[in-house]
Amino acid sequence: MTLMDQPVRGAQLTTRNPIDGEAVATYPVAGPPELAAAIARARSGADWWRDLGFGARRAHLLAWKSAIALRADELADVISAETGKPHGDAVLEVMLTLGHLDWAAKNAEHVLRRRKVKSGLVNYNQHATVGYEPYGVVGVIGPWNYPFYTPMGSISYALAAGNAVVFKPSELTPGAAVWIAERWDETVGHDVLIAVTGDRETGAALVAADIDKIAFTGSTATAKKVMAAAAERLVPIVAECGGKDAVLVAADADLDAAADFVVFGGMGNAGQTCAGVERVYAVDSIKDALVAKVVERAQRLRTGGDDAQYGPMTLPAQADVVRAHVDDALRTGTAALGGPESIQGRTIAPIVITDVDESSDAVQHETFGPLVVINPVASLDEAVTRANATSYGLTAAIFTRDTRAADRAAGRLRTGVVSINSVLGFAGVAALPFGGVKDSGFGRIHGADGLREFCTVKSIARQTRKPMLNLLTMDRTEKDMHTAAKMIPMLHGKSKPQR
Ligand code: NAD
Repeated sequence: MTLMDQPVRGAQLTTRNPIDGEAVATYPVAGPPELAAAIARARSGADWWRDLGFGARRAHLLAWKSAIALRADELADVISAETGKPHGDAVLEVMLTLGHLDWAAKNAEHVLRRRKVKSGLVNYNQHATVGYEPYGVVGVIGPWNYPFYTPMGSISYALAAGNAVVFKPSELTPGAAVWIAERWDETVGHDVLIAVTGDRETGAALVAADIDKIAFTGSTATAKKVMAAAAERLVPIVAECGGKDAVLVAADADLDAAADFVVFGGMGNAGQTCAGVERVYAVDSIKDALVAKVVERAQRLRTGGDDAQYGPMTLPAQADVVRAHVDDALRTGTAALGGPESIQGRTIAPIVITDVDESSDAVQHETFGPLVVINPVASLDEAVTRANATSYGLTAAIFTRDTRAADRAAGRLRTGVVSINSVLGFAGVAALPFGGVKDSGFGRIHGADGLREFCTVKSIARQTRKPMLNLLTMDRTEKDMHTAAKMIPMLHGKSKPQR
């Protein structure tokens, strides 16, 4: 059951289509009492779900996946109406997300089942195993830019790990959350997945409520508030935050491929992608050629009308951030395509600015709009140094034909993900963990690490026989202690200093 079915006690929120401002739907704004009720239900759902075991959970998750897949077009409509993104982009979002749900459902048992670990020579009489157990109820807080894909990176993995989920979507895009919770109720039920709609206060109330883990995706500023509030109850969080992701282009790169990916990663979804392309560092000798190719592709993009390739800014205030970054970039840089005039209300045509001072807001802070800064560097090494010189560290991409140079650069990049000769290609590889470092957050969704993120670890040591050397007793003998003292240098004293 979703909160849509419940009597509305407090305020309501109405979502609007960013393209024409038309009202899309109205949702209740849940406060602490509604949240407490939802969490109490989820807690009993969590017990039922945990006790089902891996096999039954897998079957339920795959049935839910099918229910979504069979009506994927309808979900894409819901996503598109509230974000303003083209229907095709929303279809792609659904497809990518279901790939992750499929992987999480099918791999949870293999990754999380109790496994034996070596107990070592001295402790040969201990049978040692490690198991992963669900936290209980996970609170998921989502953003608006990919209202299905992004929170599902937490929801799919948290559910597959055996948790119940209370999901608070962005106030701009609750539609997808309510829709998937309805499909859950039709296929599985038992209050294992509950959508609670509301605003930032609802999010804050969820963090303060009786939940066992928080999966937050959104801005770094909000993540800090969530973490501070979660600290009150020592509730662990995974934080998926913003980025200022860079593309590094070496002299030997395939420039057509690099330009294609820069335009896709920088302008796709109107630049409203946490791991989108915001900066490019191109080696001097090819920088002008790359700029020309990026501009040639970007200026062909259609940004308005029925066949627009990306929509307007979903968050109205984001256009002001883009304008401020463009103005700041143009203080030192050169417009290769567009400029402030490209910003028409919430619709922004592609903007490419080159040779921007590295201290500019457009280089240092998340723009979240269709603006790409392209700066020259002397070498791939310098590109890495510049890429690392922001507070963010989500993803980066390297374009070169030299595999060893790419691997060396990848090793030096301070990010959670590196792409080589593509951008965003990792997003569909479910086995790859996703997350950032520094201001981009911590913890991981996706892949085996994403499953473990939603588990507590329980170690079990089972004594199978008496030890030869009985040291775990208050009655240990002089002889046993003498043997132990002789064993210490034998076991641990053999390594020599490395000169
Ligand atoms: P936001 O931080 O404004 O809001 C995110 C969510 O937090 C919303 O649901 C909001 O209602 C809720 N919220 C706001 N204040 C809260 C509080 N005090 N306590 C609890 N919840 C609160 O972010 P946004 O504008 O919705 O999303 C855009 C940001 O998300 C960008 O910075 C983008 O880079 C980031 N993002 C990151 C990833 C990732 O996986 N790393 C993915 C998508 C988006």
